[in-house]
Amino acid sequence: MTSAVLPTYARAPLSFVKGEGSWLTEENGLRYLDFGGGIAVNALGHANPELAAALSEQAGALWHTSNLYRIPNQERLAKVLAHETFADKVFFTNSGTEAMECAVKMARKYFSHINQPEKTDIIAFQAAFHGRTLGMIAAAGSEKLVAGFGPLLPGFSHVPFGDLAATEAAIGDKTAAILLEPVQGEGGIVPAEDAFLQGLRALCDAHGLLLIMDEIQCGVGRTGRLFAHEYAGVTPDIMAIAKGLGGGFPLGACLATDRAAAGMVAGTHGSTFGGNPLACAVGLKVMEIVTRDEFLATVNRRAGFLRQQLEALVATHPDVFGAVRGLGLMLGIVCKVPNTEVVNAGYDEQVLTVPGGQNVIRILPALNISESDLVEAVSRLDKAATLIEVNL
Ligand SMILES: *Cc1c(COP(=O)(O)O)cnc(C)c1O
Repeated sequence: MTSAVLPTYARAPLSFVKGEGSWLTEENGLRYLDFGGGIAVNALGHANPELAAALSEQAGALWHTSNLYRIPNQERLAKVLAHETFADKVFFTNSGTEAMECAVKMARKYFSHINQPEKTDIIAFQAAFHGRTLGMIAAAGSEKLVAGFGPLLPGFSHVPFGDLAATEAAIGDKTAAILLEPVQGEGGIVPAEDAFLQGLRALCDAHGLLLIMDEIQCGVGRTGRLFAHEYAGVTPDIMAIAKGLGGGFPLGACLATDRAAAGMVAGTHGSTFGGNPLACAVGLKVMEIVTRDEFLATVNRRAGFLRQQLEALVATHPDVFGAVRGLGLMLGIVCKVPNTEVVNAGYDEQVLTVPGGQNVIRILPALNISESDLVEAVSRLDKAATLIEVNL
């Protein structure tokens, strides 16, 4: 079948027309259990009735006015995010990579604002992912992302993830910030050690640098805390979030302390669509739900249960699976056969997972998935692994 869509995605031959909770239905009526959550986006499942109601109520009132005017939903959502985090100020975007662009612009502007304009450089980490804009492919730096797209935005260096000594050694006169994902997502579900995050915070404090975190994939309850950095007891100066924040509606945000945001005055940054009334209505409802009493406790209970089930799955199929890793409902299973083979066998058994770096399959279910759906999804992965074993 020829398609008029630019062929930048290696798409699976599946096409879904309806979703409900953790289930997706194909055109032909086949139902799939969704263990990928649209890459950690459908945090509250498909067609969540509370989110659908929030969206349609706003849709009947007002869609778009632009940021020429105040947007009450945006003010409310910013207030909630500031209340729930280290942040004082929030800029809204339509995507994760735009939230990261804001974070990097803000860091550079901060140093220009405090009369240290020579500080422009950012230390980032190998195997990172920060999105697909020209700026953010340079920030991540991997050959796979940048090949053919040069010249790249200058100012980024890359050190091994988790290597505090290498990070310290990379700090120079021009260094402005350190940038990392507290749990690398695309890189293969690799959580930073608490001591590493604490060490980075200490380095930033000692050298007057800003600490930028990309919690686009690991934030908004995904790891069992509202934000993954909470585990280490440190806070960033600037943080990008997106994916789960809109529960499937395009929405991202760049959060910052007043100090880090000091240079971002009127006229320095903007977005036509960013923080529009529809997106913020949904974001408000997502935040209301994930901050309810017991929500994260339930996520952690489910996560513990799922982890046990996955450990058992790995033990049953030692030729297919290596180890389970991750935090909360952001889990990866290292595969011993090509991860795409496992993902494809999952399709045959009608369970969706997402391939990631280091040959993992990512398990990123809805945060409110039921225990029975978890059991069913793992049983389908078990059948998928058996399919692969037959052909080994
Ligand atoms: C998905 C992701 C991005 C990019 O988000 P987009 O919405 O695709 O622009 C950036 N950083 C991380 C950690 C991500 O997982």
